[in-house]
Amino acid sequence: MRKPTPTLYIVIPCYNEEEVLPETTKQLKVKISQLIRSKKITKASKILFVDDGSSDQTRQLIRQFSKRSSRCAGVFLSRNYGHQNALLAGLIEAKNHADVVISMDADLQDDINVICQMLTEYRNGSEIVYGVRSTRKKDTWFKRITAEGFYKFMRLMGVDIIFNHADYRLTSRKVLNELEKYHEVNLFLRGIFPLIGFQSSTVYYERQERFAGKSKYPLMKMLNFAWNGISSFSVKPLRIIAVLGFLITVLSTGILLYSIIVNMLGQTVEGWTFIVCSIWLMGGMQTLFLGIIGEYIGKIYSEAKSRPRYSIAEIINDKS
Ligand code: UDP
Ligand code: MG
Repeated sequence: MRKPTPTLYIVIPCYNEEEVLPETTKQLKVKISQLIRSKKITKASKILFVDDGSSDQTRQLIRQFSKRSSRCAGVFLSRNYGHQNALLAGLIEAKNHADVVISMDADLQDDINVICQMLTEYRNGSEIVYGVRSTRKKDTWFKRITAEGFYKFMRLMGVDIIFNHADYRLTSRKVLNELEKYHEVNLFLRGIFPLIGFQSSTVYYERQERFAGKSKYPLMKMLNFAWNGISSFSVKPLRIIAVLGFLITVLSTGILLYSIIVNMLGQTVEGWTFIVCSIWLMGGMQTLFLGIIGEYIGKIYSEAKSRPRYSIAEIINDKS
């Protein structure tokens, strides 16, 4: 069954984006008008800017756009909360008025021509449509290597994320209602959406160059983001410690045997065997114990998050 024409909100977190906002807004307004004309979205559709505590003219620009056009709206945050929190604020606000929300960066790096495809996927049943970069030709080699390494490492660490998908995605109100139940403070949205479930699909697009302004994600911020993603979504690092401890303990048994043999052959100085064995055995056991404690901390940590244990997609015939 195809869904009815939805109201679309495009959510854009902005942090010091005065250089790109006028152009982005112009292009998006044209896009929205086209989509309304072709009856893909309703007339109530809008662009919702979230100003993440910018210190330049971003806020004034958003005010201007909203005054001039009913297609633009803004949410202003009280200070700089960071990309993920700004995005969340926008998504939750947009959900009150829209059937579907598309999130994207302010810099037009995400190709706005796939919006139409995303809407088609939605109307064919998907509740989440992930925008995935088909190539990274336009990125510098450094960004490409670090960014792709980031996805691979996250996967290795047990975080279920979509390869080469950032925050360009369509989500339905149903999904956003579920998102609201995730109360975590350390937000890593691209890890949460696959957890929420529902029918999803992907659209591919070519990542463009940032046409003006500088990236707000320098290397340190990206590393920080990656570590936050791993530590908020996986207890694998703790388990690695436990496994390592176990291996060292096993190894120490071998070393114990070896040093006894060497001792019996009389090839050692006094006291050597005892010291070597103690070091290895204690080292191994300590690491193992740390790992076991870690397992418990891991449990506390996931309990403390008190994430919802299930999400209901649909209820049929609950009323007679
Ligand atoms: N952003 C934000 N708050 C921040 C940092 C970034 O709202 O503290 C926004 C920024 O304005 C942009 C998006 O997040 O719309 C992604 O940032 P950017 O394009 O600089 O990241 P990159 O594409 O280089 O990874
Ligand atoms: Mg960008």
